[in-house]
Formats: sequence, structure tokens, C-alpha cells
Amino acid sequence: MQYRRLGRTELMVSEIGYGCEWIEKKSAEEIRGITDRARAQGMNILDCWMSNPHVRSALGDAIRDDRDRWIIQGHVGSTWQGDQYVRTRDAEACKVAFDDLLERFHTDHIDLGMIHYVDEVADWEHAMGGPYWEFVRELRDSGVIGHVGMSTHNPTTGLLAVESGVVDMIMFSVNPAYDMKPASEDINELFGEYGDDIDGMDADRLAFYRAAERADIGLTVMKTFAGGRLLDPARSPFGVALTPAQCIHYALTRPAVSSVLLGYASEEQVDSAAAYETASPDERDYASVLASAPLHAVSGLCTYCGHCAPCTVGINIAQVNKFYDLAEVQVANGGEVPELVRDHYRALEHTADECLGCGACEGRCPFGVGIVERMERAAELFA
Ligand code: SF4
Ligand code: SF4
Repeated sequence: MQYRRLGRTELMVSEIGYGCEWIEKKSAEEIRGITDRARAQGMNILDCWMSNPHVRSALGDAIRDDRDRWIIQGHVGSTWQGDQYVRTRDAEACKVAFDDLLERFHTDHIDLGMIHYVDEVADWEHAMGGPYWEFVRELRDSGVIGHVGMSTHNPTTGLLAVESGVVDMIMFSVNPAYDMKPASEDINELFGEYGDDIDGMDADRLAFYRAAERADIGLTVMKTFAGGRLLDPARSPFGVALTPAQCIHYALTRPAVSSVLLGYASEEQVDSAAAYETASPDERDYASVLASAPLHAVSGLCTYCGHCAPCTVGINIAQVNKFYDLAEVQVANGGEVPELVRDHYRALEHTADECLGCGACEGRCPFGVGIVERMERAAELFA
């Protein structure tokens, strides 16, 4: 495993890290197995944005014996209320949730205290101007968090964080689909080197990457595979599948990026990600694959991130969207809704037909997904 400096935090992080996406439905024993595998592969950074008590306890128990070898990203503002994840800037609720994180991780400090999920300028201004920031600053000044970080999908708020001077690192969604301009036939226009001549990338994202690098703000990466979409030729916005190694290499070759934090649903997936370390230059090369791909934009596609929660009636929107996508691919190719997918859908506590169309979730989706319309389509498909 190669290790990289995480910008001005001076922490050395494994270039392949451990995100906790996909372990929510796993047992404590399975989570321990995945964590043991990540450790054996040399990973030393993990992100726990989830407030789910089961995930926190299982992860905390799995690293209890060697907590100090792990660099932990813990999020301020990810809370658990009414059996659901709720993002909030309410300082009191944040304190309860952060104390819970410390307790479940059997620790008195978190290395990277993340200002959780700031995609709107108004939210950034609100967060930094009141009791929420006072709480984060208190955590930092008392040493409970080692460094202040932020997670975002938006280069505009990312840039504000870089310029603020108080944020030391940022977790950002990075993959070629998000970086690309909507359309170009010429790969040379789309993939320049990331030095001064970078071409074909979204201008705001480029400005953000460059500012982060200039300010020595290290980036950790989420959404490396765009929610699995880039690995599936049927769902890739490029019309071709990329391999995990190609996606990882893309992210690791962006400016300021230190570590790619991937979600693992099995120990095999940990090994598959770590195989990047021994992949040949040809196996890592993404540009040759994308050069002949029919390119188009990814906006509006669900990555199953879960940020749209909580739903007014308790629908697990990310799960519904995932089952819908799995089924829809089959149906679009002339097949039937797979029985297994239908069973998983039926087992949900709340299903898409319960959607009120209130739209409360849509404003929270960083990817502009038309959730109300998708709930209608999912209800029809699974009826
Ligand atoms: S629009 Fe539907 S899915 Fe979204 S919050 Fe309202 S009820 Fe839930
Ligand atoms: S609808 Fe948006 S916020 Fe919700 S899971 Fe999908 S991408 Fe994430």
C-alpha cells in the first residue's frame, strides 16, 4: 500500500481507504471481517459519516484493539433521530451525535472532524456564523478533533472552505463523469494533464482542485465509481464500463487528492480495490477506454448516497432507487423484474407508493435527481 500526505494535516494516509458505505445492512461479524481485511491490506483511514448506531458500534468494536493506527473521519451534523439519519446544524443535536460517535468508537478523539455535507452556499454561511461552528471550534481547540474537515459534492462550497482558512482537508466526490463537461467528441479536450493546461473539465471543479492544491488542503474522495454506475456498461454515462482500477487511478491523479475512500460490501471487494496497488499502467489507464466512449453528462442519476433522507413518510429513498435501477435495467432489456429484487423491495418498511410527492427530499439531493418522479415510476414498476 502506498501512503500519501494529507495536505497540511501532515497525516500519512493510505491511498486506498475505507468508506463505510454499503455496510449498513451487514452484521457486526461481517463488518469485522471487512475491517480486518482493510487493515490487512494496509488501509489506515476510514470514514464514518453514518449516524446509524449499529454501524458505529460494529466499526468501533472492529478497531478497538488498534484504534491509534486508524485515521478516522467523523462527521459533525450527521445525527440519528427517529430511527433515521438526519443532517442538521443544530449544535445540541450535533453534540449528542458526536458524543455517541466517540462512545461507540471507544475513543476520546477523532482525527478529522468533518463539517458534514455542505453543498449550499447559504448552508455554509449559516453553519459558519453560529452555534454550529462554535461547537466545531470547541472540539478542535480542546483537541477532541485533530483537524477540521468538510464533506461536499459542490466545488463552490468547497472553494469557500478552502478560502476560509479554518478547514484543513475536504472530502469531495470525484470521478470522470462528475468532472466532465457534458459533451465532447475529442478525448484530448476532455482529459488534459492536471497541471496548468487541464482542459475539458468543469471550470468550477477545476478551480476548486487548483485552489485546494495551492492551499495544501488534502482531498479524500467519495463516489469514485459514481455509485457503481461507472462499472456497469448498461448504466455508465460513457456507454462503456470502467474497471475499479481505472476509476481509482482517475481519482488519485486529480490535484490535491490523497486517498480514495471506497465502500465495501464484502472482503472480496476490499481485495479487489487493493489490487490497484499492483495493477499495471495499462490496467490503470482510463483515458484509452473513455477516448472512444459516447460521452454525456451524469446529472440526475442516483448514486445511492442517502443524503436525501429523511423522507417525510420514512421511505428509504436510496434503497428504492437502487432496486428500481436494478429492475429497470432488466425490464429495459426485455426481461422481467428479478424476483430477488422484488423481494428486497417488498421487504422495505415503506415503499414508493407511499410517497406524498411533498418534494422535501429533492432539495437535499446533490445530484439533482427527480425523486418524486422516480418514486412514481418505482411504484408502477413494482406494483
Ligand atoms: S417526496 Fe416522497 S420520497 Fe420525498 S420526502 Fe416526500 S414523501 Fe418522501
Ligand atoms: S436521490 Fe440523490 S440524495 Fe438520494 S440517494 Fe439518490 S443521489 Fe443520493
